[in-house]
Amino acid sequence: MEKLNVPELFGSLVFDERQMKERLSADVFTSLKKTIDENVRLDDQVAEAVAEEMKKWAIEKGATHFTHWFQPLTGVTAEKHDSFITPTKDGGIIMEFSGKELIKGEPDASSFPSGGLRATFEARGYTAWDPTSYAFIKDRTLCIPTAFCSYSGEALDKKTPLLRSMQAVNRQALRVLRLFGNQDVKHVTVSVGPEQEYFLIDQKMFDKRPDLIYTGRTLFGARPPKGQEMDDHYFGVIKPRVAAFMEELDQELWKLGILAKTEHNEVAPAQHELAPIYTTTNIATDHNQLTMEIMQKVAKRHGMVCLLHEKPFKGVNGSGKHNNWSVSTDTGVNLLSPGETPHDNAQFLLFLCAVIQAVDDYQDLLRLSVATAGNDHRLGANEAPPAIISVFLGEELTGILNAIKNDEPYEGVEKVTMKLGVHALPRFSRDSTDRNRTSPFAFTGNKFEFRSLGSSNSIACANIMLNSAVAESLRQYADELEKADDFKTALHDLIRRVIREHERILFDGNGYGEEWVKEATEVRGLSNLRTTPDAMPHLLDAKNKEMLIRQKVFTEAEVESRCEIMLENYNKTVNIEGLTMVDMVRKDYLPAIEEYLYTLSRAVESIKNISPHVKCKYEVSTIEKLTDLTDNILDAVTELEAELAKLKEIGNVMQISFAIRDEVLPRMEKLRDFVDAAEMLTSGKYWPVPSYGKILMSV
Ligand code: ADP
Ligand code: MG
Repeated sequence: MEKLNVPELFGSLVFDERQMKERLSADVFTSLKKTIDENVRLDDQVAEAVAEEMKKWAIEKGATHFTHWFQPLTGVTAEKHDSFITPTKDGGIIMEFSGKELIKGEPDASSFPSGGLRATFEARGYTAWDPTSYAFIKDRTLCIPTAFCSYSGEALDKKTPLLRSMQAVNRQALRVLRLFGNQDVKHVTVSVGPEQEYFLIDQKMFDKRPDLIYTGRTLFGARPPKGQEMDDHYFGVIKPRVAAFMEELDQELWKLGILAKTEHNEVAPAQHELAPIYTTTNIATDHNQLTMEIMQKVAKRHGMVCLLHEKPFKGVNGSGKHNNWSVSTDTGVNLLSPGETPHDNAQFLLFLCAVIQAVDDYQDLLRLSVATAGNDHRLGANEAPPAIISVFLGEELTGILNAIKNDEPYEGVEKVTMKLGVHALPRFSRDSTDRNRTSPFAFTGNKFEFRSLGSSNSIACANIMLNSAVAESLRQYADELEKADDFKTALHDLIRRVIREHERILFDGNGYGEEWVKEATEVRGLSNLRTTPDAMPHLLDAKNKEMLIRQKVFTEAEVESRCEIMLENYNKTVNIEGLTMVDMVRKDYLPAIEEYLYTLSRAVESIKNISPHVKCKYEVSTIEKLTDLTDNILDAVTELEAELAKLKEIGNVMQISFAIRDEVLPRMEKLRDFVDAAEMLTSGKYWPVPSYGKILMSV
């Protein structure tokens, strides 16, 4: 086996700190480092020097082009490649790249969604370098991570508000830490480790399915004889072809400085997972976008297709992303890690409370931050966390909070009535924070795991909302505690009050059960926003809008435009799915069933010619059932077409999304049921697309 030098490979396509240190003069390096660490504006001369060295490095690595790499609101990343070449007088060229080109770009932005923020006559937006995320090389192109804004300064991307939300946490967490006497902490960072699920199927199967090609998911397909009920795939042996894919994927990701760590099979057949080591949220977000892109590329090289859709196959587990989230200081303290001393414990509990309150106060924002047409098929479908957001803490931590709430002794190892900041917390073992897989938001020892994210989604949205909401709790705590005469007493009272006021969000039971839906909504008053059209409008609720503006994460215009864009996205997605169904039914399924019916009828005729008294039970009953089904299919497809046509008459995105939820989706479901029933009766030889069984077992 060829030996791989991983440390050498790692980051070899990244202009990281090692490269900066080696190539930049000490002064330039120090300035740049200050920009990265402390968010200080980069001066023009420094930018010029950095650009020059970056270009030299990139050319040495074989790059010919550069691009400002950014994340517009479409959800995918965008890039416009420019080559380094500049003509010289003698007819030749030189390779040039200026500080200006590094710092600012002006892509023609008219075709990116802006939700009305940018009228087309002022179509130009600009991209600005985000020096906190390293430049890297991909396909011979130097990619410079950038934010994307309109000329009037509104964010048109996901990175800008994400960076702002990280700043918000930093601002408020520092205020709180100062109250605990922490003077040495300069900066507080939010970190994320996103676990990414995906499916791998054979390219040949994919090519034969228009639904996968156009929409990323199968819109039809009868249940396979063998699904995931045997549970033999989960953590099972990885097949050689998949292993080869994973090996190459790891290497490609390592070259880009992405900390790919764990690769394993998931629950469903053909489903897998990749987990990176956690890092700063902003970088984790960029890396996750790159990971999804590279996964698809590498799969192609292995004759496979990587499906990132949340629900590529009905009746088979869907794919999500677990967003492992924590807050830590530049002095190396994880603020969600229970401490050793009473003092540390109290600080930990306050940060824990901040998250609990954030999730309770902004359940709707968290829910809508993961709402997409694709993820709607997953949330609440007894395989993924429910659409109801709640927090899992585990038995011991819940016991401790209860004791504080009731001023009762906690019966841990020793029996103590705790006065926070005075008594030590009873130690609790991390492993007892049991894996409640059904919880959407679980404390896992020293981090929270937000599990509702969809597999194809950028993790930016979820983290923007989570960071903002936590910053808001911390702001309220700092406001209150800064005024207190006796910090310890005020802190104790605050924590007790927060537990009392927000305990309704805490739930350790089975989130998949019907009883939970009843209890959550009827007794606890939690929100159950089942679909994207139900969830998204809450972005504009006064409490949400005000909070996001107060935390300086969005402007009012930005919030409004985002709601519009997300709904538009939903509408377009389902509309394409509907049209694809109509197309497949009319061009593929009905003609195929017709052919089979013809064969069957011919068979009956021929058989009866030979032997007139034979009943031909199989043929005749199949013909009867299939013709019934084709009648139903025809009616259902005609109805669906009519509903899709009606959408064009509705002027407002929100109204369209309601019509989709109430009229279009149920009709798609109905049509699908008829077609799937027909699939069960039709000879595989005639069926125009590969079956679920064939696709899922194709690798
Ligand atoms: P678990 O088995 O509890 O899911 P893992 O160690 O497998 O934990 O980690 C899952 C993901 O959580 C990984 O991406 C990991 O890097 C990330 N992670 C671990 N610790 C933290 C932390 N303190 N903050 C954020 N993410 C973390
Ligand atoms: Mg996990």
